[in-house]
Amino acid sequence: MPSKTAPFALLTLNMQTISRHRAATLADARRVAVKEAVTRKDAITLVWLGSSPSKAQYVDPSGHVSTLYHHDDRLGCVELWTSRETGTPMGLYHGVQARMEQDPDALWVVVCEKHNTLVGHRTLTDARRTRSPMDFCDGCRHGEDVDL
Ligand SMILES: [Zn+2]
Repeated sequence: MPSKTAPFALLTLNMQTISRHRAATLADARRVAVKEAVTRKDAITLVWLGSSPSKAQYVDPSGHVSTLYHHDDRLGCVELWTSRETGTPMGLYHGVQARMEQDPDALWVVVCEKHNTLVGHRTLTDARRTRSPMDFCDGCRHGEDVDL
């Protein structure tokens, strides 16, 4: 619950630097986040309540606020899994939040973490259907081994 002790932490991540702010309400924190994101253009700004990262939100450089995806300390990561078919480590990412250079029409990116190959999808639902690297990774199709 909001209180007079300003429980909302606002962190602006700009590559290596982190700036911290406090705000009395989530609405106030959001206003600061949007202003910073728009001003700095390249900032990823996170807002959360207290120390709970589950409340984190993403503010893009145009000021649009959306869900922040993060998993296993990876920014933009929706989920990680191991392919049942090949035993390969796989990841699903929000391409912009993960700072990938991807087709803007294919925001949701599935990655073969072994060969660092990827395939983009227009929707999260489509991306979630890609469970095996055999669907897109030449390295997996040809059984190539690489040192992880
Ligand atoms: Zn692969």
